[in-house]
Amino acid sequence: MRLVLLGAPGAGKGTQAKKLIDNFGIPQISTGDILRKNVAEGTPLGKEAKSYMDKGELVPDKVVLGLIEDRLKQPDCRKGFILDGFPRNTAQAETLDGMLKKLNMPIDSALSVEVPKDDLMKRLTGRRTCKSCQQMYNVYFSPSKKGGLCDKCGGELFQRDDDKEETIKRRLDVYDAQTAPLIDYYKKGGILKSVSGTGSIDEIFGKVCTALGLK
Ligand code: AMP
Repeated sequence: MRLVLLGAPGAGKGTQAKKLIDNFGIPQISTGDILRKNVAEGTPLGKEAKSYMDKGELVPDKVVLGLIEDRLKQPDCRKGFILDGFPRNTAQAETLDGMLKKLNMPIDSALSVEVPKDDLMKRLTGRRTCKSCQQMYNVYFSPSKKGGLCDKCGGELFQRDDDKEETIKRRLDVYDAQTAPLIDYYKKGGILKSVSGTGSIDEIFGKVCTALGLK
């Protein structure tokens, strides 16, 4: 399976990607996670990316495409991969297609996870992540039983810097203007599938598996 996950920030792409990894053992490649790691480690790339991320803007294509190319060449991607948060615009999608053609491993599905706009804001402002194991929680819908600590590993929960209200608004605008057109891009390519991203995590996962022909 070589899958692109599409959907607005807060649609639950990361959560569903993690369930796909647990069940099918293929790597999730999240450009957002790779960039955040670089920011946390203070690498030159992280320093360049941070100013864009803090404003809710896209990091320049050149930076992200370099990261993706290196990652897709790793041996674990030979058995498939899930792209989460990449591509984010048509130029990235076209470059990705060219890269994968050369590697002889084209995308076989693009799955759009659709969530009404009104729900996205609450999902994003309520989102908390475990510092140790990256387990996700939501203070409104799926709070940790231990307050600010992770139920799974006891790690500290934190709110992403870009999950603050003003930045979220900008990220949703950037999604509409630059990323939403990819739905048409993959529809034209004949590989688009869609699921509703509303309901429990397991219900949505059931729909994801059905849409991808995995069950
Ligand atoms: P995400 O975790 O996917 O919501 O990404 C968080 C932030 O990282 C985004 O708001 C962008 O600033 C940056 N980012 C992640 N993926 C990309 C990408 N494919 N292209 C450009 N910027 C990205």
